[in-house]
Amino acid sequence: MDDDINHCRVLDAIAKDARELHVVELLEYMRTLHEGLMKSYRIQRVRASTDYIHTVIDGMKRLIVCLQNKRCSCGQFQLDELPCPHALAALRHMNESFENYYSPYYTKDSLLQTYEILIDLLPDESKWNVPQHIAEEVVMPPTGKRQPGRPQKQRYKPYN
Ligand SMILES: [Zn+2]
Repeated sequence: MDDDINHCRVLDAIAKDARELHVVELLEYMRTLHEGLMKSYRIQRVRASTDYIHTVIDGMKRLIVCLQNKRCSCGQFQLDELPCPHALAALRHMNESFENYYSPYYTKDSLLQTYEILIDLLPDESKWNVPQHIAEEVVMPPTGKRQPGRPQKQRYKPYN
């Protein structure tokens, strides 16, 4: 309910200069404005089922977020171990910080621990001790046969 009121206030504030338009033009202006806002907002509504389970409506999709298990029906939350936009919307709805909901792997300390180990630099190529039979070997590109048809330029998008 509060989201609807806020949305109407935003629309009203933006559309002040459109009040002089003819009714049909005004409706078209408002429709275009509404579409643009929906694209920028994307997530329209969050409904809390329990303290941890929320239903998030994202455009035409309806997603279930469980903050306790750190899961979302989109799969991104549990896969990345980082709150997805739906989980962030649920956390925002609860006025809760996202800090307890991401993996410790994303912290600065974890990053620093990763590079804590001393890594020996590779010496200059002239100082490499390469056996003669390996140095003489010539590596050719694979002899794969080109498939018929035009090569694919874009990757297939996942089904949602
Ligand atoms: Zn999600």
